[in-house]
Amino acid sequence: MTDNRKFVSETVPPEVRSESAWWFVFQESKLLVHETLSGIDLPCLVDFAALGLPPLSQHYLGRLDHRPCYAVEVAEGTIPPAGMAFDGLRQVYGRLDEDLFWVAARAVQIVDWNRTHRFCGRCGVPLETKTDERAKECPQCGLLHFPRLAPAIIVLVEQGNQLLLARSRHFMPGMYSVLAGFVEPGESLEEAVVREVKEEVGITIKDIKYFGSQPWPFPHSLMIGFTATYAGGEISLDDKEIEDARWFTVEKLPRIPGKISIARKLIDGFLAKQGSFHED
Ligand SMILES: [Zn+2]
Repeated sequence: MTDNRKFVSETVPPEVRSESAWWFVFQESKLLVHETLSGIDLPCLVDFAALGLPPLSQHYLGRLDHRPCYAVEVAEGTIPPAGMAFDGLRQVYGRLDEDLFWVAARAVQIVDWNRTHRFCGRCGVPLETKTDERAKECPQCGLLHFPRLAPAIIVLVEQGNQLLLARSRHFMPGMYSVLAGFVEPGESLEEAVVREVKEEVGITIKDIKYFGSQPWPFPHSLMIGFTATYAGGEISLDDKEIEDARWFTVEKLPRIPGKISIARKLIDGFLAKQGSFHED
């Protein structure tokens, strides 16, 4: 589902840094970009020092089309170089090359993990970064710490020519989307799909089919998409998270999520089946 097919993940950086690299520079979760005539671009330099920004940490990510990629964290309040700015990833989507965007989505998670996993959870001593895998190790007890990933299911439920969309209290005004929720420990993905739909809108479903998946770096989810068919029950909103849920036909859709999201890909998939599409 992601578009970063040309990216190869690696943990050992090139011994000699002689070629230009992509630098994914983050201040908190904001990415350093510079405006171009056609959109925005990222720093592509041999040496990060050329930017004149003091790094807090640096992480080798791998290669995009053979070009090395690094994530760098800089301190809060760092002034961007002339002509550059720190932008949120959601604002960057659609303006930055799609392959670079999805590497940035990896980079922000590595930087965030590094910042929030500095000490062993068992004995409290500072962790050491491993070089042969994406992990940190406790020098005292040997406990391994891996980047955090929170799996979440997302499901489009259909009934004939209608699809079920719901509104969370946190959504922008008028926006509806498909249902989603985090997977609980001990639960299969299919069980999570059934439970979330039952909890959030009170109906039962059948014919659960895998659709695709997408990393969602806000801040560290992995969205696993499914489609399902209505089986029974009436819509009832017990969950305080959901303020409205309804069946919609393709002719009368509400405002739906942007093309960055797997939610939108699920909805677009349903529209295509109905011989329809949605512009923006
Ligand atoms: Zn330890």
